[in-house]
Amino acid sequence: MKAEIHRLSLGICNCYVIKEEGVILIDAGPPHQKVKFLKKLKNLSIKPEEIALIFLTHGHWDHAGSVNELKKLTGCKVAVNRYEKEWVEKALKTIPPGVNLWGRFLSQVMKILVPFAKFSGTSVDLALENEEFSVEPFGIQGKIIHTPGHSRGSMSLLLDSGDAFVGDLAMYGFPKLTRNAMPLFAGNPDQVKESWMKLLKMGVRWIYPAHGRRFKANELKKLL
Ligand SMILES: [Zn+2]
Repeated sequence: MKAEIHRLSLGICNCYVIKEEGVILIDAGPPHQKVKFLKKLKNLSIKPEEIALIFLTHGHWDHAGSVNELKKLTGCKVAVNRYEKEWVEKALKTIPPGVNLWGRFLSQVMKILVPFAKFSGTSVDLALENEEFSVEPFGIQGKIIHTPGHSRGSMSLLLDSGDAFVGDLAMYGFPKLTRNAMPLFAGNPDQVKESWMKLLKMGVRWIYPAHGRRFKANELKKLL
């Protein structure tokens, strides 16, 4: 059975619903996305309680802002890297540094605006280690691997089909003028490239970023 991949745009974040034997949600979007989420899920004919896991690619506010609401709706487990468990549980609003002019500008804007965003934290059920974590128990043929660089605890979900969901390890066409994969923000840009190499070595074919559109993994090679 081939996994179905559904992009669910919640605010500025592309979340993804993966359906195979089971259903998992990748990222939970910025705060206050509950109504939109329910509507989009209904369009897919998926019930909230079918979702067994929310995997947060990392703990930034635009990925974890609605995790409390969505966890209550679905009754599922929440997984994030152990370095960012506290961010999610305490709803900390960590802002990453920009890597270019656009990124630095937006990072400054976020520093001013994000502290006003109101959302609650939620308990993390699975504090992921840096080793591979199989999602087979959740009915999906794939694994989560540690791909730091955007943040220390950034992780990616790789399906056996060669599709990779990388959170903010790459952005493509975001903002619209951007034509390469380097994310606008990164705590450690060199580490971003190391993580790209890791993905390429693992034979990833398509990259699904949380901002922008999906692209062929070969695009990453242009910047290595
Ligand atoms: Zn981020």
